[in-house]
Amino acid sequence: MNKKVFAFDLDGTLTEHRTWITDENLAVLQELKDLGVRIVITGAGQATRIFRQLREFPVDIIGNYGMQYSVYSEATGELKVVRDIVLPCEKESVAERAAALREKYGFTEFTGEHVEFHPSGCVTIPLLGTKADISDKLAFDPDRAKRRAIYDEVVAMFPEYTVFVGGSSSFDMAPAPYNKYYALDLLCREEGYTHEDIVYIGDDYGTGGNDESVYKSDIDFLTIDRYTDLPEIIHNYLNK
Ligand SMILES: [Mg+2]
Repeated sequence: MNKKVFAFDLDGTLTEHRTWITDENLAVLQELKDLGVRIVITGAGQATRIFRQLREFPVDIIGNYGMQYSVYSEATGELKVVRDIVLPCEKESVAERAAALREKYGFTEFTGEHVEFHPSGCVTIPLLGTKADISDKLAFDPDRAKRRAIYDEVVAMFPEYTVFVGGSSSFDMAPAPYNKYYALDLLCREEGYTHEDIVYIGDDYGTGGNDESVYKSDIDFLTIDRYTDLPEIIHNYLNK
């Protein structure tokens, strides 16, 4: 085994959105841990939420696209926060640009708020609004074609962010330079790994996906399209 680090995306890779990890996928993590490799979860959400979704499995967690980094303490059984960055946000300017985007593409009807500002400095533009009906959200853009069609323009409109085609009907934005590739490169620089030491497993590697930055990089990438395929994908990789 020439890899020292297995880095995993969470949603769609280890488990479903807002769902606890299955026993089968937890067993895969345990197997890797028993082999002595480092497991790092590289998620879009909060490290503490990721930890709960993993049923508090002992792993290190990079949250918020690298703005958060927490390591598991065997002594306490809890996460110890190493980094938790909060960056400023030009809320008025972001809201104005989001409104212009809606106007231009006709996404002018929404329920609740039209922009969501997160404490970290990350921003969500929910095209149907923060209070939209879940069924409307799921039906809005299931193949992401609507959002991918305007993705390049949204990227150009928000140069101070990395923009993602997020969830079912939104654009998610993390303050630049944070994204998952930046987070893994930072891990290498801080802890002495090389990019070749890492293999990454993720499902969201298409245009605007939150794993795309790693997929397009020199870091080895295993694609996964259903989280239930995880045991097979990892076993095939280990046996090759
Ligand atoms: Mg994912």
